[in-house]
Order: sequence, then C-alpha cells, then structure tokens
Amino acid sequence: MRNDDSPPPPESGSSVNPDRPWFTRRSTLVVGVAALAPAALAGWVLTQAFAGSGSDGAPSAPQPASHSALSPGQRDAKPGSTPSESTSTSPSASTSTPAAAPAPAKGPLTGKTVVVDPGHNVGNFQHTDEIDQQVDIGTARKECDTTGTTTNAGYKEADFTLDVSRRLRTALEAQGAKVVLTHQADRPWGPCITERARIGNEAKADAVVSVHADGVSAGNRGFHVILPAKVKGGAADTSKIVGPSRELGERIAGNFARTTGSAPANYLGSGTGLVVRDDLGGLNLSTQPKVFIECGNMRDAKDAAQLTSPEWRQKAAQGIADGIVGFLGG
Ligand code: ZN
Repeated sequence: MRNDDSPPPPESGSSVNPDRPWFTRRSTLVVGVAALAPAALAGWVLTQAFAGSGSDGAPSAPQPASHSALSPGQRDAKPGSTPSESTSTSPSASTSTPAAAPAPAKGPLTGKTVVVDPGHNVGNFQHTDEIDQQVDIGTARKECDTTGTTTNAGYKEADFTLDVSRRLRTALEAQGAKVVLTHQADRPWGPCITERARIGNEAKADAVVSVHADGVSAGNRGFHVILPAKVKGGAADTSKIVGPSRELGERIAGNFARTTGSAPANYLGSGTGLVVRDDLGGLNLSTQPKVFIECGNMRDAKDAAQLTSPEWRQKAAQGIADGIVGFLGG
C-alpha cells in the first residue's frame, strides 16, 4: 500500500543514450531491467520500513493489532492472551492438528471448569422421604431437595432442567470448558442441596449455574436470575462470591434475554431479571461464583409453550452459555 511512494520505473525508451547507438537495443534492455530492479527494491525497502516502524517502538505492538482483528466479544473473552494464542483458532491453526481425535475444543473457556446443576431430579417424586430429610445450609435447616414444579400439562421442571443443562454442557464444551453436571438421571433422587453445592466447590468451578423454572400463578411471566446474598453462618460464608456471582448473573441475564427474546420476570426483581436471596442452600454453601436461573414460569401457558419447546430450550442454553463466556472471558 506504500507503493505509491516509490519512484515509478523509468520508461525503457527514456534510458537510451543517443551517444552510444551501437548497442542501443542491448542497452535499452539492460537499462530497463536495471531500472526496474532498484525500483522494486525501493518498494520492498519502503514496505519493510513501514512494517518495521510499527513494531520497532514496542515489541508488543503487534499484539493489539492482532487483537483488533478479533470481534469485541472475542477480544473481551481473552484479555490476557498472546498473539499466538489469539490466532490459535484460525483455520490454519486448526488444520495443523488433524490427529487430535477426541481432544476438547479450544476456545475462550479452555482451562475453565463450569459446574451445571440441573435443578431437582425427576426421581424425587418417588423419593419424598429421602428428599424431605433436613440438611444444614449454614444459616438454617432445609429439605435435602424438592420435587420442583410442572406445567399444567404435566411436563416436569426436572425434565426441563436436565434437558437445558445437557444443551448447556454441549455449548460450553464447544467453547473449551470442562463441564461437570451435578447429576444426569444417574441416581434415583437428589442430590441434596448441600451436595450440589459441594460438587461445585470441590471442582473449584470457575462458575456454577443451577438451572430451574418457576411455578407461580398464571400471568406471572419471564425469567430471573437469583444471586447469593451476603450470608455468614455455620458452613455458609458468601462474602467472597457475592461480587463475582452478581457479575455472572448479570451476564447470564443479558444474554438469556437476547437469545430467547424473553423479558425479565414481571412479578419480582423490579424488571431487572435479578433477585438476591439468602435462603437457598445451593448458594449459601457455595465457595465458587454461582447463580440460579429461573427460565420462566411453568404455570403460565405462554411461558410453558416456550419451556416445552426444544428450540426455545436450545436458545435458553445458548444464552446461559454466552453469559458464562462473557463472565469468564472478561
Ligand atoms: Zn426449581
């Protein structure tokens, strides 16, 4: 692009010396080639000088240049990455590792662990004695677990949460995350809320999301994300997770609204889609950034129509995943 500054190659005819006619033709050819070579060289030098001027000042100069080529989302997702890491997702980089058969996807969540907690368990309905056991959530005692709600037509919240959680796992793994589900239809009931929290803690999860849908009267619509209140008591101490959990929740709420088109709940949260609670064992006992999301109201016909749609559930999972990427990438 700097070629405009290099001198144009002289016309061949203009270089012919009228005083030496005996090798005019030969000299024309030689001079022509000779004239072109320096011109080309000058152009190369200018190009190199221009390119060099950008990197001589600071070795890190190419880094912001490469970052500027990324979308804002990508840039935000990997603030500390080096240029080589930034380009690791380029087509040329990906084709250089064709032999890595089951290798996890590389992406903004590479190296991150996310625990996904499918709320309730469809088996809880048959194990009410077990799930009614009282457990210690630090600030109080509560039931080990609950059955969750259903739509009026009988679609269970527990089936909804597991389906969204599996979709969420797939979406997160595609971004490079290690994903742990607290359960996946591999146990007759539970786990207890204490164990759900412990799984996230022991995984040292970078983020934890508990997936739910609400069960309140018809006409109450929309989603909300539940953030941990600052509590301290017994094994509960949320002082270190209140801040990051709010950021996680805000990211999820914003992305969930965007991907699903759903509005924040119209019955709590003052239209923010965010609610703070101090009575949930799964939050109180967490040492890792954690939120719950109530994706909609199963008892409202319009919300239920969405919650029972696989396509909508995919959008819901994608919104949650995007929120996690935004949180962990920022
Ligand atoms: Zn629930």
